[in-house]
Amino acid sequence: MQAKDLVQLAEQFGGPLYVYDAEKIQSQYHRLTSAFSKVERLRINYAVKALSNLAVLQLLKQVGSNLDTVSLQEVQLGLHAGFDPQQIIYTPNGVSFEEIEEVAQLGVQINIDNLSVLEHFGTKHPTVPVCIRINPHVMAGGNSNISVGHIDSKFGISIHQMPHILRIVENTKMHINGIHMHTGSDILDIEVFLYAAEILFDAARNFKTLDFLDFGSGFKVPYKKGDIETDIEELGKKLSKRFIAFEKEYGRELTLAFEPGKFLVSEAGYFLAKVNVVKQTTSTVFAGIDSGFNHLIRPMLYGSQHHIDNISNPKGKERFYTVVGYICETDTFANNRRISEINEGDLLCFRNAGAYCFSMSSNYNSRYKPAEVLWKDGEGILIRARETFEDLLKNQIMLPLEVATA
Ligand SMILES: *Cc1c(COP(=O)(O)O)cnc(C)c1O
Repeated sequence: MQAKDLVQLAEQFGGPLYVYDAEKIQSQYHRLTSAFSKVERLRINYAVKALSNLAVLQLLKQVGSNLDTVSLQEVQLGLHAGFDPQQIIYTPNGVSFEEIEEVAQLGVQINIDNLSVLEHFGTKHPTVPVCIRINPHVMAGGNSNISVGHIDSKFGISIHQMPHILRIVENTKMHINGIHMHTGSDILDIEVFLYAAEILFDAARNFKTLDFLDFGSGFKVPYKKGDIETDIEELGKKLSKRFIAFEKEYGRELTLAFEPGKFLVSEAGYFLAKVNVVKQTTSTVFAGIDSGFNHLIRPMLYGSQHHIDNISNPKGKERFYTVVGYICETDTFANNRRISEINEGDLLCFRNAGAYCFSMSSNYNSRYKPAEVLWKDGEGILIRARETFEDLLKNQIMLPLEVATA
């Protein structure tokens, strides 16, 4: 989609605004499935937490995606969007046993990531098929927030605890139908992925009744110039070959599953916010926008660098700006960034605003969450209304008058 379309959408729907390009989501989905077209049974489970708008879920259902969920509520959203329970996998971490039982009851595939729950669940529900989340201890990225496969990660059951897993399975006679790993959101190279895959194959050899192997996600998308992007086509070629060979060795039909979030929706998203003030200080020029980390927290939380364009003045002379929000805390979106000349009232566009942006937004400073629009067939469709004061009041209970005035 083009800058002029975004400018028009901001006029039509007001700001700040999230816009998602439907065609980009669809093309990323097809890119992934094409890369693995040699694999007979491929299953893509879109990670709902990246962007959980119902219309986006519907769009992904249309192209043939399944869902990966991390909470009962995400499961419910998926069902609400029209997915069958069989199209959903549930991969929670640290949730209550009751929640896991409730999700299993719905007919959703559960994925267990610790030994105590595995033993408890297997004892109580030996006939319910369960997938096991393995931690292969592969260090995938540099930032400990997002590399979840390493030794001290809270995710998954350590591969070194395989004997204990096997003892639980034998004792409870529970049915293991899948093995899973998710090494984190920052896989830098294909060799790391293939290395972790070998560990998963090794783990799989311990079970005779598997239906699927789930390789999680961790596909990298470029955020700024020069960023490395996972070469999906190359990974598809290499991993497919290895998978098909393993399937033959295993002697049973297996599904190859992935759970991409970022890969499918990150680049499809644009966040639009107006510049309220341009402020010169002794050392820098601040562009203060009509938003803050209440709407987009990734730059402050992870140091993510979202590319920013001034779409009101795309051909202006480039100058250096520090782009900040209106929240009463330090909320810097970009430091000393080259952007074409900004005037008050200009519209800034943040790229890669599809994944972990709206879904991490909050009402901090008692601000409304932005509206969301899906750009489809040359038209903007409102898929979430901007919040109103009513939303801030909802669920709040004021003291009765006699208590408040006593
Ligand atoms: C968050 C998550 C994903 C998606 O990761 P991306 O980096 O967005 O692709 C996949 N699987 C699990 C279990 C997750 O927690």
